Amino acid sequence: MSEKKISILYLDDEEHNLTSFKAAFRRDYNVFITTNAGDAVQILSENEIHVVISDQKMPNLSGVEFFELIIPDFPDPVRMLLTGYADIEAVIDAINKGQVYRYIPKPWNEQELKITIENAYELYESKMALRRKNEELQKAYAELEKFVYSASHDLRAPLVSVMGVLKLARAESIDGKAGEYFGMIEQTVTKLDVFVQNIINYYQNNKQGELLSEVDFDILVDEIFEYYKYFDGAENVDFQKTVEQSGPVLLDELRVKMILNNLVSNSIKYQDSSKGQPYVNVNVITAADKTTITVEDNGVGIAREDQKKVFEMFYRSAENQLGNGLGLYIVKEAVEKLGAELQVDSEKGNGSRFVVSIPHKL
Ligand code: ADP
Repeated sequence: MSEKKISILYLDDEEHNLTSFKAAFRRDYNVFITTNAGDAVQILSENEIHVVISDQKMPNLSGVEFFELIIPDFPDPVRMLLTGYADIEAVIDAINKGQVYRYIPKPWNEQELKITIENAYELYESKMALRRKNEELQKAYAELEKFVYSASHDLRAPLVSVMGVLKLARAESIDGKAGEYFGMIEQTVTKLDVFVQNIINYYQNNKQGELLSEVDFDILVDEIFEYYKYFDGAENVDFQKTVEQSGPVLLDELRVKMILNNLVSNSIKYQDSSKGQPYVNVNVITAADKTTITVEDNGVGIAREDQKKVFEMFYRSAENQLGNGLGLYIVKEAVEKLGAELQVDSEKGNGSRFVVSIPHKL
């Protein structure tokens, strides 16, 4: 039996039932009794009631109807119905609908009823414990996300200044070993910056609601190409673009950019130098109901058995030293948020094609 005194509310139109209930249980429990449904609601709003017992057959409303009335405002107390066998169908229906935990046949037996009340209270306690745990979990999750987001924001500022200084150093045309070392530092810092940006993207994709704006794919793809042209390894890549867009299209540009950025940067990273001219080809077709984006390359390709795994968080192929395993995870998450479809067509040694179909909102 639990330490805390159980509080019970009992509603019945027959006064003598109430008095005998109170006489039997008042030593063990806090017992509230009433013949009036309005007073019962009042008691519920003023006390932490754990168990509510109601007679089923009452002149103005039935026990099941009383429970229906209180569930929206007082969903937590465990509800039990006192009933004669004549009303059994209504009771079974109420149990099935989750309105009633258990029914107590009349006339009740004191010992049995006591056990039923104790069980009901245990159910109440475990429901409350589960709720508390859920709340704690949600709070911890929100704090963790906030921490990761602000930490990554704070990390970006010094990274950006280091990259700026490195650009200046390069402009001084430092030769020899020093030049080589600066190049290596720049490469590592850029990789770190991409990682930090990915974490920020992950957070934004989770938190930010949909923000529709008119997207001009000619401009958007050019901007992305312009950005990646200066990436390590991009100097050999042929950037190809075809856009068939007949008019304005409203899309969630932030997520479309996340998808394009990650797919294009992967095509650069996973180029196959043995094949001659590496390329990344972005093709966009906007129809009335959807936009289809295809990003294709002639890079190293992805083995069939890895094609599902590449979308997992932090997955990267064994030979890959370039990435952090977040890019395609973010693509998948953004695709889900857009209600889009994603298809991969790739073969080891034969390049990759990613197709994203984004439905238009009306
Ligand atoms: P990473 O930061 O490692 O690039 P991604 O989630 O973007 O992380 O990609 C996961 C893995 O999928 C990569 O490590 C790579 O092996 C493979 N991959 C992704 N895109 C391509 C591509 N265009 N060509 C070949 N392999 C790719």
